Amino acid sequence: MANLLAGKLAVVTGGGSGIGRAICMKFAKQGAVVVVADVHKDGAESTRVLLEQKPSVTPNAGHASVACDVSSSSEVNKLRDFALDHFKRAPEIVVNCAGITLDATLLKLTEENFDKVIDVNLKGVFLVTQAFAKAAVEHKTPQSVINISSIVGKIGNFGQSNYAASKAGVIGFTKTVARELAAKGVRVNAVLPGFISTPMTGKIPEKVLAGICQQIPMGRMGQPEEIADAAVFLSSDLSSYVTGTTIEVTGGMGM
Ligand code: NAP
Repeated sequence: MANLLAGKLAVVTGGGSGIGRAICMKFAKQGAVVVVADVHKDGAESTRVLLEQKPSVTPNAGHASVACDVSSSSEVNKLRDFALDHFKRAPEIVVNCAGITLDATLLKLTEENFDKVIDVNLKGVFLVTQAFAKAAVEHKTPQSVINISSIVGKIGNFGQSNYAASKAGVIGFTKTVARELAAKGVRVNAVLPGFISTPMTGKIPEKVLAGICQQIPMGRMGQPEEIADAAVFLSSDLSSYVTGTTIEVTGGMGM
């Protein structure tokens, strides 16, 4: 199926790498115009260049790249203002994909690294969702917000109490704001990836990854494109009656 997102404007945070980049690529292939946002401008810009190079159903679509640290309300407001000013409309799709890990077992985890992970992974989702949901309501634009949580937010993971707490928080946040915004035309859902091959999991030693794969019923790690497919579904009219839910894309892990 092609053209599921024709005419839609999408903002994707963390779009400069891994899952976020794959989401940008699939969105463009389905006809969306994409604002790629990332903490480092060069990452966002390289994704934008890739979007323009790929034969999409809307060539020269005018994709944009913006530097934005999602944990900063002033930078998030600048991102929202850019989208509204540049495209003269509110985005129909917002994907919260920016995320970090700073792993340590509880007995070694510093307060600073607990706060940093919560600031990006949870507060960032709050700031971006609030800024763009307000814009959608003001502009009377139907909107789909997709929050990239993690299966770890449901089942926990050794050495990731900060990360798991942030991702569990995203699930509770998603369900709450889905209730609040449903009558205003804004759908909010979360995707819970399992272990996906990206620069984030590239830091995990090969031996540990082999052990992880043994716990995955499908016996392998996922690809970023397999998360992007779930994001396409949630952002398209195929999911017009879906809100406040979570979709696990894990190869069966954590079911
Ligand atoms: P990734 O390749 O590291 O991509 C994350 C992107 O977010 C990077 O471009 C990073 O920028 C950016 N970012 C970091 N801090 C940011 C901030 N404050 N503001 C804006 N952007 C920021 O990781 P990924 O694996 O694609 O992860 C994407 C999302 O999926 C994350 O939310 C992650 O928690 C979630 N997830 C991943 C997996 C997995 O197995 N890979 C599993 C479950 C959930 P820099 O790299 O330039 O710092």
